[in-house]
Amino acid sequence: ALSGAHIAAWIERAADVMEREKALLTELDAAIGDSDHGVNMARGFTAVRSRLGGLDHGDVGALLKGVGMILLSTVGGASGPLYGTLFRDAGQRAAGAAALDLAALAGCLEAGLDGVKRRGKASPGDKTMVDALSPAVDALKAALSAPAPTGGPARSPLMDGLARAAEAAQAGALATVPLIARKGRASYLGERSAGHQDPGATSCSLLLRSLAATAG
Ligand code: ADP
Ligand code: MG
Ligand code: MG
Repeated sequence: ALSGAHIAAWIERAADVMEREKALLTELDAAIGDSDHGVNMARGFTAVRSRLGGLDHGDVGALLKGVGMILLSTVGGASGPLYGTLFRDAGQRAAGAAALDLAALAGCLEAGLDGVKRRGKASPGDKTMVDALSPAVDALKAALSAPAPTGGPARSPLMDGLARAAEAAQAGALATVPLIARKGRASYLGERSAGHQDPGATSCSLLLRSLAATAG
């Protein structure tokens, strides 16, 4: 199951990944936004990493909520409040849990997705982070009801669900390329936003891939 130690390791990895992929995220945002998404994400996750020690690792809900509060105040832009809401609402759902199994994680991420949709008013297909997050939640729920057949690679149900969620998020991010943005700065471009991958969907996919790579 996913413990506070796993969540902390995830954040450490995510901070490395956002730093490493800063140029990519900035380049994607340069095409349809204002060229700051890479800097925003790297700054936010680096801040969370540096403040991890001050958070309660025994309560996964409190830990996720703490991460959300730090992201809210450090990422900035449109994505800051949205990533802040994702972690905060996921944490609220997990309140008091020492660890999350696949079912708990699916419920948690779904609560986070609902929060993002409520706050940003975006639906799937609007060319936003929701286009990566929503299929990832669907994949977790599908893994719950249809576990991997035995005889495949020996993975725990949680690891299997996370791997499927990360793949779904990546596919969702790639599928934003032809879409016309209907939310956020990219929507100002109208049809000219088509032909570019959404930066926020891309960072969301990176986050889920980091999580899949972390949980052991
Ligand atoms: P800003 O656009 O303020 O510079 P960022 O560049 O950090 O903020 O983040 C842009 C990303 O935020 C977009 O690529 C998109 O995925 C996401 N985003 C923007 N507005 C919304 C929204 N209303 N709902 C969901 N996601 C959104
Ligand atoms: Mg931007
Ligand atoms: Mg900006």
